[in-house]
Amino acid sequence: MSDCLFCKIAANQIPVKRLDEDDLSLAFADINPQAPKHLLVIPKAHYATAADAPAELLGALLAKAAALGERELPNGYRIVINTRDDGGQTVHHLHLHLLGGRHMGWPPG
Ligand code: C5P
Repeated sequence: MSDCLFCKIAANQIPVKRLDEDDLSLAFADINPQAPKHLLVIPKAHYATAADAPAELLGALLAKAAALGERELPNGYRIVINTRDDGGQTVHHLHLHLLGGRHMGWPPG
């Protein structure tokens, strides 16, 4: 999508700190971190929500986030997908938040 922020990031039109990249996905540091370490894992292709994406891609994104969590956050981490307004989604391009580096409270806000 031409006006999608994360599509522009995936296409290298907006610079971000790229931490991991493959054919399907990109991981980069969140610009407004909510934990000492806060990464986003996005598909390079545009899907608005997890419900719009193929199951195989969702599996690959989750595996990528978990692998990054294991690599970067051995004490533990949280993976979150905010979905539409009540879920707190503000960027309508599917993304997984990987958060850690502190104890994560429950329930989330
Ligand atoms: O789940 P939600 O849609 O609210 O998350 C969007 C995330 O994208 C936010 O954590 C925000 O800080 C991040 N963001 C970013 N770089 C931008 C715009 C938003 O990392 N240029």
